[in-house]
Amino acid sequence: MGKPNIVDGHCDSLIHYVNGERTLKDPSEGGHWDIDRARLGGVSLQFMAAYIETKYKPNMATWRGLQLIEGAHRFMKDHQDQIFLVQGKLDLEKVPDPTRLGVLLSVEGGEILGENLFMLDIIFKLGVRALGLTWNQRNALADGVGEADTQSRLTHLGQEVVGRMNALGMLIDVSHLNEAGFWHVLELSKYPIAASHSCAKTLCDHPRNLSDEQLRALAKQKGVVGVNFYPRFLKKTGKVSRQDVVRHIYHIAEVAGVETIGLGSDFDGIDETPEGLGHVGDYSYLLDDLAKVGFSTLEIEQIAGGNFMRLLSNVLK
Ligand SMILES: [Zn+2]
Repeated sequence: MGKPNIVDGHCDSLIHYVNGERTLKDPSEGGHWDIDRARLGGVSLQFMAAYIETKYKPNMATWRGLQLIEGAHRFMKDHQDQIFLVQGKLDLEKVPDPTRLGVLLSVEGGEILGENLFMLDIIFKLGVRALGLTWNQRNALADGVGEADTQSRLTHLGQEVVGRMNALGMLIDVSHLNEAGFWHVLELSKYPIAASHSCAKTLCDHPRNLSDEQLRALAKQKGVVGVNFYPRFLKKTGKVSRQDVVRHIYHIAEVAGVETIGLGSDFDGIDETPEGLGHVGDYSYLLDDLAKVGFSTLEIEQIAGGNFMRLLSNVLK
C-alpha cells in the first residue's frame, strides 16, 4: 500500500514548546510529537491546538491563548523550510507538500474570546482556523462536557460565534462540548463541523465520547470525528492497544459511514498511549491494521486524511 496522506485533527504539543520544555524538532526529547516523527509517520497536515490550561481560566485565558498563538508562529518561523501554515483553500491545495508539513492552528477553548466577539476576528487574523467552543468547563459561549447536568444550549454569544465562524471560514470543533450544545451547533451551523478528538460512546461510555445518534447526525451534515488515542476514551478498564483504536474506527464506520471518520490523536495532551501507538511515528502501523480488518485502500485514504481534507475544503475560504 502506498503511503496515504494523514491529517491529524488534534495535538497539544504547542504547550510543551511554549513552556520551553521541548523544541518539537528532536525526537530524543521524548513526548509524542515532533516534526521528524510526524514526517516519518506520514502526517501531511497537523492541527496544532492552543490548549488553554485550567489554571489560566477565566481571567488569564485570553492572555494565555495569545501567548500560545505567538509561540506557534515562532515555532513555524524557526522551521519555515519544513512547515507551512494552512489558512485557506489555496493552502489546502498544497497538501500534501513533499518537503513541508502543513499546520492548521486551532484553539481549544472559547475562553480565549472572553466575552468579546471581536476577539474571534483577532484570532482569525492571527491565522487560527479552528476553535473548540469549550473545554470541559462552562465559558461565555457554552457548557463543556463537565457541565452536562445543566443540559444547556449555547449562550447568545455562543450563537453569534457560530455565525461568525461560518462567515469567516473557520472550523467549529465540538469535542468537549456538552450534548445539548452539540445539537444546538448542528442546528445553527451552515457548514459541517468536526469533533476533532473524540471516540464512540457505545464502545466506551465516557462523557467525552459521542453517542451513535450524535455520530449519525455528524455524518448527515458531512462532518468528521477525529478518533482520539487516549486509552481511557477507548476502553473503560484494562490494557489498551492499537486494536482498540481500530475497534472504534470500525464501529463508527458501521454506524455513521467511513466518510465520517478522521484521526485526532491528542498526542502530547494525553498521559498514556495505546500499546503499539506510542507516538506520531507509529501512524503507519495503524493504517496497516485497518487494511487487515478489511478496509479498502480508498477507505483507508479517507480515514487517514481524505475526510478531514474534504471537510476543510467545505469550510475554509
Ligand atoms: Zn482536548
